[in-house]
Amino acid sequence: MKLLYACTELAPLLKTGGLADVGAALPLALTAAGCDTRMLLPGFAALFNGVQLDDAPPLMPAGPFAPAVLQQLAQPALIRRGRVAATGQPVYLLDAPALYQRGGGPYQSAAGEDWPDNADRFALLGWAAAWLGLGGDTDWRPDVVQLHDWHAALAPLYLRLMAGDKPRPVSVFTVHNLAYQGLFPADQLPGLGLPWSVFGIDGLEFYGQLSFMKAGLQFADAITTVSPRYAQEILTPEQGCRLDGVLRERASRVSGILNGVDYAVWNPATDPLIGARFEHDRLAGKALARSALQRELGLQERPDALVFGVVSRLSEQKGLHLLPPVLDELVARGGQLVVLGSGDAGIEAALREALAAHGAQGALRTGYDEALAHRIIAGADVLLVPSRFEPCGLTQLYAMRYGTLPLVHGVGGLADTVTDATPDALAAGRATGFVFCDFSADALRGALHRAFALAERPREWDAVRRHAMQQRFDWREAARAYCALFQRLLTAHPES
Ligand code: ADP
Repeated sequence: MKLLYACTELAPLLKTGGLADVGAALPLALTAAGCDTRMLLPGFAALFNGVQLDDAPPLMPAGPFAPAVLQQLAQPALIRRGRVAATGQPVYLLDAPALYQRGGGPYQSAAGEDWPDNADRFALLGWAAAWLGLGGDTDWRPDVVQLHDWHAALAPLYLRLMAGDKPRPVSVFTVHNLAYQGLFPADQLPGLGLPWSVFGIDGLEFYGQLSFMKAGLQFADAITTVSPRYAQEILTPEQGCRLDGVLRERASRVSGILNGVDYAVWNPATDPLIGARFEHDRLAGKALARSALQRELGLQERPDALVFGVVSRLSEQKGLHLLPPVLDELVARGGQLVVLGSGDAGIEAALREALAAHGAQGALRTGYDEALAHRIIAGADVLLVPSRFEPCGLTQLYAMRYGTLPLVHGVGGLADTVTDATPDALAAGRATGFVFCDFSADALRGALHRAFALAERPREWDAVRRHAMQQRFDWREAARAYCALFQRLLTAHPES
């Protein structure tokens, strides 16, 4: 089976969040599971730097329904073939420097403004995915096209328009986060090469705007999300981001496949980014990692402190506004809090102000720092993930591997992966962390109390920690589930 995997991020070359970790690991796991997998990525400079290009001449995509920008570029857009230097993963890079090579981030300028031509930039990605899907590369024609998040979400629609009555690959749209939807003014539609006939309630129209996300949801042959619980939650008005009606109509095509962890990168026994290495059966290094973290961040070096860590985007989704109201108590009980985050300036200011009152019992580091993320996840005792919603969440999975007990709001992938330390779960040896159910500071406070109470019973804490460290969230399992889905779709769509 041949699979084209279209997305925008690939760790460690280009990462703004979990999408990049998935892009680094899932295609390789799919290949190992028997899918001949090639990625399609926008030709961002950071990606060109990590890709070894083939000698093969580039492809020059052209054809119907192309976004107008394809004709307007001073240099024609090309699709270059190559392999990720570090892993050998085959990739197509969509080379259009005027669209993809600029300072700032992949979606926003350095000042945090969305790029004004994002509709063109990502429509071209979706269109190129469809073009490759229909045999644009005569040497390699995929059976399945998997599109990730809104950036690639127009592809299922372009595929249908471009194929007409002819065979086309099956399309799978994978939602990593329903909250980011790719909304643009409706008058941009013709510039994307799309006819007005697709702009209706059954098409791209979303409260008067055009929605890339909705195209993926309406026109893909199957929709997946990154945890089973989130796949259920997005069917509800509470978590459906106003797309729950669309999703409910297509509910039979929606499923959830839990993300995995790349244990070659996230392994306390081998991690080169942490000072002291450790494993579930030799934990001395864990205490060293904690005191090293306290030193590095200027915390009081108290061996008895319960160190709480946060590694997160600073966005409303992540629920970090629940932390300031509980911080006094956390510190009064002997805790310390370290936060690494980047994003929203208001959330940053609120955390800074709250932590300032606690001197050497708290620290905030801002910006994106992969190495510090590893050291916090290794050195903390508890990792806080109080997200309002969480499609899968990766940091709680990393934390478990490092014996750092996750304390999470019980939603989405957090609910699917963390087993709360209830008396029953503790007695049965199943507990791996702490889960609170109401999205409120009081509920968070309750879970903190339980964490402090367990810390006073070191033997039990140790048992939970060892159990958490032995959990495995295996990409092989995820890849097998995706392959099985692809196979079912191919059987059900004999025309492709
Ligand atoms: P999301 O994709 O919503 O941001 P995930 O938990 O799925 O959340 O993935 C977040 C990823 O980004 C993890 O690999 C985490 O370690 C990393 N990360 C988040 N914030 C930072 C930061 N400030 N510095 C370094 N890594 C970060």
